[in-house]
Amino acid sequence: MEDVWIMDSGCSRHMTGHRKWFSSLNLISTKEYITFGDNGQGKVMGVGSVSLSAKLSLREVAFVRNLGFNLVSVSQLLDEGFEVRFKKGACCVLDAEEALVFRDDLTSVSGPERCLFASPSADIWKWYRRLGHLSFDLLVRLSSMGLIRGLPKLRAENDLVCHPCRHGKMVAASHIPVSQVMTSYPGELLHMDTVGPARVASVSGKWYVLIVVDDFSRFSWVFFMEFKDEAFGFVRDLVLRLRNESHKAMRAIRSDNGGEFKNSRFENFCRDLGLEHQFSSPYTPP
Ligand SMILES: [Zn+2]
Repeated sequence: MEDVWIMDSGCSRHMTGHRKWFSSLNLISTKEYITFGDNGQGKVMGVGSVSLSAKLSLREVAFVRNLGFNLVSVSQLLDEGFEVRFKKGACCVLDAEEALVFRDDLTSVSGPERCLFASPSADIWKWYRRLGHLSFDLLVRLSSMGLIRGLPKLRAENDLVCHPCRHGKMVAASHIPVSQVMTSYPGELLHMDTVGPARVASVSGKWYVLIVVDDFSRFSWVFFMEFKDEAFGFVRDLVLRLRNESHKAMRAIRSDNGGEFKNSRFENFCRDLGLEHQFSSPYTPP
C-alpha cells in the first residue's frame, strides 16, 4: 500500500507514513495528532512536499507516524484551487485551467470488497499488560472517557482472548468444607497420610513422615521413616496401643490409595480387629 496514493474525501489534509515520498520535509516537533477513523491517533512528525506526478505537487503533506497509507485530501486539493472529478473507475485532478494534472485509477485500489482503515497497529494488548490484565471492555471505556493520562484511544475488538487469564479464571466446583466433627469420641476414627521423600534425609536417615490424626480430638502423631512401607508397623503399634488405652472401640481408619496403605498387611490387620479401612476417592477431578 505504500506505493499507492488514495483519494480520500474524508481526511482533512494530505498525509503519509512513508518518508521516501517527500521531496522536501520539515521535521517538526508539534503536539499535533491525526485522529483516524477508529479513534486511534498518529503523531505528526513533520510537514513537507510530495510530487505525485510531473504536474501535481502536494504541499503541506503531513508525515504521520504509524500511518500505513498515503492519503490525498480532496478538501485540501480544492482549497488549493484544484478541481477533483470522480468518474467510474477513476478520479481526476484538474488545475485551474482544467488541465489534467493527476489521474487516480480507483479500480486498482478499491474494489467493492476492499475496506481501508487508516489505523496505527492497535496497542490494546500493550496497555492490557501494562494495566495488569484489566478487562478489555474496561480498558476501552477508560480510554474513551480519557480517564488515564497518556492512554491512547483504544478500539474495542472482538475475540480478544488472554489465555493465561482464561485459565486463571477457570473454576472447579469445590467440596463444601466440613466444619463440625462427625465422630463422637477420641480414637473412633484415625486419619493417616505419608509425606515425602524429603529433599534431604534427616540426620538419622529418614526420608518420609507418617502423620496420624485423631478425627475427634485432632490429636496428631508423627513418625519418621526411612521407607514408606514402615507405615504399617507404626499404624499397627499405635492402633493396638489406643485400643488398650481407650474404653471405646476404634471404628475406622482413613487413608488415601497409596501403596503403603492399600496392601494386604493393612487389609488383614483391619479385618482381624474389625476395623473399617476407608479410602479417599481414587481420583478427584481438577
Ligand atoms: Zn490476561
